[in-house]
Amino acid sequence: MVTLGGRLRLGIAPTIPHHCTKEFMLACRDVAREHGLVMQTHVGEAKYQAASSFPVFGMSMTKTMDSVGIVGPWFSAAHAVWLDDEDMRLLAVRGAQVAHNPGANLRLGSGIAPAREYLRHGVMVGIGTDGCHCSDNQNMFEAMRAASFVSRARGLPPDEWLSTGEVLQMATEGSARVLGFQDRIGRITKGYKASLPSNLRRSKTFGPRAPSVSGPHGPPPCLPSRLRRSRFPLPNPSAAGWRSTPTARPTSNRACAPRAASTSTATPRGWSAGARRGTRASPVTSSRTPRGGDARQNKKPPSAGLEVDP
Ligand SMILES: [Zn+2]
Repeated sequence: MVTLGGRLRLGIAPTIPHHCTKEFMLACRDVAREHGLVMQTHVGEAKYQAASSFPVFGMSMTKTMDSVGIVGPWFSAAHAVWLDDEDMRLLAVRGAQVAHNPGANLRLGSGIAPAREYLRHGVMVGIGTDGCHCSDNQNMFEAMRAASFVSRARGLPPDEWLSTGEVLQMATEGSARVLGFQDRIGRITKGYKASLPSNLRRSKTFGPRAPSVSGPHGPPPCLPSRLRRSRFPLPNPSAAGWRSTPTARPTSNRACAPRAASTSTATPRGWSAGARRGTRASPVTSSRTPRGGDARQNKKPPSAGLEVDP
């Protein structure tokens, strides 16, 4: 196995078989197997790629590559949008994997990979971003979200949509397997590497929740219990230019539901009844406070709900 400081591992990735000669593909196979490297190539990303192998080779590209010993546990099919049932079964039997890149598939209009069907056949699926030029970002959280969403757009019943747990497993264990790193990353367990605190602190995915999570009274009860118990430090809202709203400590889940105006249902959201009477237009939420301003200068403390001047 080739390692570079233990953090990089080489892989062999002839981009698309249609662009390669048979000799080149066989040479890639030999190098990968001789050095114990993973091998990946695009398979059935676009419909025309899947269709064109039949007139040329008389069978699907998956079967064509399998006939010369390319498909095995070291092999992953990138995209794999247009593979049929027989191809899926073949990948499962050979222990090969699929790299699911929903962002690129949406960007390029390639189609939606049948991730649920691969899982049903027992094929390990990893999630990837593909290149930033064809998916607009290299953000794994975005790729996970896209994988979850596109699974709902294939006409499957809701209980066959990818669950959050399945998507997380695909992005961690599955992607590690595709990269050949399954022995050191992809799981939070003894002997495996991870940098979760730094990833969470840097991720804008967790940003909008940060003021609530790290507010002066701790996390509200409406957060999932696992997140409330999390010991991972989240961004300091004041350092990011946010202001948390100093509300009373919530005592039940109802505290997280939208609050109804208790005395006037006609009060426009975010403004007091005093403003309607033309007395004083006082913003009632701290989000109206100019950045860097001090809410303590207000005569009344800001409130998260609607209120009426006495
Ligand atoms: Zn690609």
